[in-house]
Amino acid sequence: GKRTFTMIKPDAVEAGNVGAILEQITTSGFRIVALKMTQMTTADAEEFYAVHNERPFFGELVEFMTRGPIVSAVLEKENAVEDFRALIGATNPEDAAEGTIRKKYAKSVGENAVHGSDSDENAQIEAAFHFSGREMF
Ligand code: ATP
Repeated sequence: GKRTFTMIKPDAVEAGNVGAILEQITTSGFRIVALKMTQMTTADAEEFYAVHNERPFFGELVEFMTRGPIVSAVLEKENAVEDFRALIGATNPEDAAEGTIRKKYAKSVGENAVHGSDSDENAQIEAAFHFSGREMF
């Protein structure tokens, strides 16, 4: 798979870390093929995270993801999904490897700075959720 989808989450946007995170992504060999700042509605977040709707943290996750703008992007690289998940590190920053984006910028398991798709299929679904064909290059 050559593409993955990412969001820089509201915590990292609020903290002013968008530029540093995009810099780390591109210097790690990913090409940005789509990019924009938006704010998800409650309905957007509930749909995007529908797979988690039975989890105890679902309400908190939707609140968090809608509280301010996000930066979403589609990234291209050989082995994009797996390599990007390695670059961002574990969901919980306490478990994330040194130098990973979550180790550097995440605050907690919930407010963890970035999203990365977990499969080629989900990367395609998530990119199409956020971007029209005319917004992807
Ligand atoms: P993402 O899908 O955002 O890349 P992930 O695949 O590492 O993250 P998931 O287990 O799919 O993690 O959880 C999705 C998101 O839900 C996490 O990134 C985090 O923001 C939130 N989340 C996960 N576990 C918890 C938790 N225990 N408490 C609060 N929020 C959580």
